[in-house]
Amino acid sequence: MSRVFVLGNATLDCIQTIPRLPAPGETLLADSLLRCPGGKGLNQAVACARTGAATVLVAPLGRDADAAVLAAAAAAEPGLAARWMESAAPTDYSAIWVAAGGENMIVSSAAAARGLAEADAIAALDDLRAGDILLLQGNLTREVTMAAARLGRERGARTALNTAPIAWDMAEALALFDIVIANAVEAAQVTGADARSAAAALAPGRIAIVTLGRDGAVMARDGVLTPVAAPRVKAVDTAGAGDVFVGVFVGALCRGAAPDRAIRAATAAAAIAVTRPGTVPSFPSSIELAPLLA
Ligand code: ATP
Repeated sequence: MSRVFVLGNATLDCIQTIPRLPAPGETLLADSLLRCPGGKGLNQAVACARTGAATVLVAPLGRDADAAVLAAAAAAEPGLAARWMESAAPTDYSAIWVAAGGENMIVSSAAAARGLAEADAIAALDDLRAGDILLLQGNLTREVTMAAARLGRERGARTALNTAPIAWDMAEALALFDIVIANAVEAAQVTGADARSAAAALAPGRIAIVTLGRDGAVMARDGVLTPVAAPRVKAVDTAGAGDVFVGVFVGALCRGAAPDRAIRAATAAAAIAVTRPGTVPSFPSSIELAPLLA
């Protein structure tokens, strides 16, 4: 059976809702506080596992109470096997502000993610095989990311990169990936082109998707551009929408869906997530995803 291996970060997210984003130097009182599991690696692995794809998450955790929260959350996800890498740094943490209307600001600590050693990451991917998909993001170092992608290529796995966050020059890494998913800002940064042209610019030799927030996404593949509109919904919190999109797209591909079908499922799943607060707590359940994948 094919599996999805997600090598990435896991964070404890501290999400405060506020009436508006603060100005520099300003103190605001939050309307609410939600602490929940997060981080692009963990988020995408959870969304992927909920599609029914057998999913392995490889991520670093510190030795602290936050680590126990994240490990328990992952253990509660059927179909998700977590391989935690012990970090000397504290478990990574994201401070997330969500203003009325859904606009957000996020600051993530990344000492654990960036401290992950290449040899440890590669050892944890030892059973990666042809037919599997290896999914990476930008939180780990360039060296670890590229070494893992090379391993994926050697093993005959499909390699997928979500370009968030752009912490190093990703243009040079693109040749190692069969699937690239970027949001509009990242796509413009990597290619220097506007979002729609960026999808085409990223595509030669691979599937390239640029996500466009409430406008949906555009996929470029084999010289064909496929725009997909997002369902019109009332967004309350878009944090994690990109992760749901990526996890569901890759999970659907692993389960044998054609890319056109997978991107429609990903767009529908992300639209559900934006109507609810939080990152993982907002993600559609496997029961909600089933009809989108049928
Ligand atoms: P985030 O960082 O907030 O997780 P992102 O910047 O990585 O997201 P976006 O392009 O903003 O990525 O959103 C990802 C996907 O989520 C979009 O392609 C779309 O399908 C869905 N989405 C985002 N915002 C909305 C919205 N307001 N209404 C419906 N769907 C949305």
